[in-house]
Amino acid sequence: MTRVHNFNAGPSAIPLVALEQAQRELLEFEGTGMSILEHSHRGKAFEKVHDETLGLIKKLMAVPDTHDVLLLQGGAHAQFAMIPMNLLPAGKSADYVLTDGWSDRAFEECKNVGAARVAGKIEGYGRIPRADELSLHADAAYVHVTSNGTLSGTQWHEFPETAAPLVADMSSDILSRPVDVAKFALIYAGAQKNIGPSGITVVVIKKDAIAAGRTDIPKYFRYSTHAKERSLYNTPPTFSIYLARNVLRWLDAEGGVAAMAEKNRKKTDLLYAAIDARPDFYRAPVDKASRSRMNVVFRLPTEELDSKFCAEAEKAGMVGLKGHRSVGGVRASTYNAVPHASVEALVAFMDDFARKAG
Ligand SMILES: *Cc1c(COP(=O)(O)O)cnc(C)c1O
Repeated sequence: MTRVHNFNAGPSAIPLVALEQAQRELLEFEGTGMSILEHSHRGKAFEKVHDETLGLIKKLMAVPDTHDVLLLQGGAHAQFAMIPMNLLPAGKSADYVLTDGWSDRAFEECKNVGAARVAGKIEGYGRIPRADELSLHADAAYVHVTSNGTLSGTQWHEFPETAAPLVADMSSDILSRPVDVAKFALIYAGAQKNIGPSGITVVVIKKDAIAAGRTDIPKYFRYSTHAKERSLYNTPPTFSIYLARNVLRWLDAEGGVAAMAEKNRKKTDLLYAAIDARPDFYRAPVDKASRSRMNVVFRLPTEELDSKFCAEAEKAGMVGLKGHRSVGGVRASTYNAVPHASVEALVAFMDDFARKAG
């Protein structure tokens, strides 16, 4: 077996130990005579996994008692709709700070539900707006930000101070660094980048916001429905939750989010240094102060070279480097589960490729 260096943007790398545990336990889970896939979501065996998963998220994110953790379905896209459905009452408007193609999606979906305004946007998404460039409305129902721009390669390194409740899409950087959860009314993340396989969406939501949520929407789409039933209102994706648990156990054993932040900083420092060392060959389109610690985007002198770079990297065992179809270029996603050694291999390849091409 040869496992590649996996730089996929999502679904993406999963820690080997989490996969190996699933492999060991696949046919028989904890002496129960069946796989976890075959257990009822109402049975003791799964309930234990479910509770452990929720508990680990609370522990790792240091979620205060004022907030609840929900495991929902439909990915971040379902949240693009559910957030305004629940939190945007008639007559009010929501503020969206646009820093990435995913913020655009969230904003457009909000407008299908109610009123929304752009409260900040830098053309080209080359950086995060400064505080004085935001036009926040104190009476907004909420302010939505995209914590890490998976496509643009930008990241909020300090979240804005807002009078209105703050909502963040953390799909691509949840659990990658310490975050003060108390600052947020709602945090959401599709699991397939930093938590595990696709299929679940983590929502960390203030209990006040759940209670204040609209009730004139279908029951399934109310946060209160899922909060009341501990995310077991209907059949959850049990295997995704089980595998997320394995990943969260690994993360905990590795030292939690503070240790991850340090590792992620080292990985991306290495990559950005490799880019900056050859400014006439590699170019990072994002301002230094806004650079992402999760998705490192860069370009070569021509689109032809971008493609050649990705193709040759793949031959050398490094996959997933092609930029998103909407932005092109090269993107190395260096999520928690991507080992430092993978980044070292990529940096060596970059040096080699630039030398041969130049
Ligand atoms: C991947 C991603 C999404 C889309 O997630 P789905 O789970 O496919 O809906 C949304 N926002 C961000 C920031 C992402 O990285």
